Amino acid sequence: MISEAEARKKIFEAVRPLSPRNVPILQALDRFAAEDHFARLPLPMFDNSAMDGYAVIAGECQSGTRLRVVGEQPAGIDRKLRVSNGTTVRIFTGAPIPAGADAVVMQEDVARDGDEIILNCKVDAQEFVRKRGCDLAPGQKILGRGDRINATKLALLASQGFAEIEIGGEVRVSIVSTGDELAKPGEPLQSGQIYDSNSVLLRSLVQGCNATAASVRHCHDQIDELRDAFQTAAANEILIVSGGVSVGEHDLVQSTLRELGADIDIWRVSIKPGKPFLFGTLRNCQVFGLPGNPVSAFVTFLQFVRPAILKLMGANEVDLPAVSAELTADEMNESDRPHYVRGRFRDGRFTPLGRQESHALFGLSESNALLRIDAGKTVRAGEIVQVALWA
Ligand code: AMP
Ligand code: MG
Repeated sequence: MISEAEARKKIFEAVRPLSPRNVPILQALDRFAAEDHFARLPLPMFDNSAMDGYAVIAGECQSGTRLRVVGEQPAGIDRKLRVSNGTTVRIFTGAPIPAGADAVVMQEDVARDGDEIILNCKVDAQEFVRKRGCDLAPGQKILGRGDRINATKLALLASQGFAEIEIGGEVRVSIVSTGDELAKPGEPLQSGQIYDSNSVLLRSLVQGCNATAASVRHCHDQIDELRDAFQTAAANEILIVSGGVSVGEHDLVQSTLRELGADIDIWRVSIKPGKPFLFGTLRNCQVFGLPGNPVSAFVTFLQFVRPAILKLMGANEVDLPAVSAELTADEMNESDRPHYVRGRFRDGRFTPLGRQESHALFGLSESNALLRIDAGKTVRAGEIVQVALWA
């Protein structure tokens, strides 16, 4: 049995980011940039008005000043207008500031009198003028290699005129759930059977990483079925197997993988839940064998599979976000493995939820965070702990 840290190190050594691909920017949402990006345009691109109003020369504006309106500048095509002493140009939000003007007075601060306006306040230079480049200068870094591309980063890329972007390669994942006891949701249950919830769990988690769930298949605990499923699955970058990785006579995953020529790098990790976790390589496919108990499958996915998928996709940051929380109840870890306690983080506090056993799916479904407690350690109510958030 190896430690979690050793297991993660071995996995990270085995997975290399895939070759990048060029996609329309809208397909890049929640993917990772394959290269650094720099601004090619200033933002704003030209001095423009922050208000609907009148472009003026601030120095000649007092309360009561009269100015003659000599033109109108809407947002869009620059009409190349000019403001000279005693004149003003009607202007709208986002429109280019006419030559000569150095401020905008809001329309609420003037009275219109035919082709003139009368100001009812003084005006400061640069008032309501958005200066070219004040937000972003050309050459400034806007996105780093490996950064996640969220909606606002996409908007920034669009504002720079980028229609396409290089992102990390597509990760295709096969999921094989094993077990003679499993029935598909929607089908009638025979006595002794349970519904296959891990297929749904794992598929959702894979999709949550923005990887592609290329195939989802169920196998009985039979070598022939497993062999066939693993051989087909090995065409993808990742194979996740649920169940069958323990030590019972029906746990045939490891022996079948070996028979197919897989290298098994990890079997059994010091983690609770999730000890019988397996990791290996079958041809060019990274194989993750997760214990069948739903909470074990979930925790080992988050600790080992998710980081590997994200690394393949070219991500910089592969761990779940962590936050500080005040623990609301004592938690004891009497085992000799680090324990991942499931619970709810809310308003700065973390409350362990439900039965902390590896089959207890309900408590997990009510949770949004994991607390890691070292082997043999106790943490007390009121202590500040770090929890990892997944929802
Ligand atoms: P195994 O890892 O195959 O020994 O299974 C451990 C436990 O997880 C057993 O109680 C199984 O019935 C259960 N289990 C295995 N696969 C699934 C699945 N796909 N969905 C829900 N429970 C499962
Ligand atoms: Mg089984």
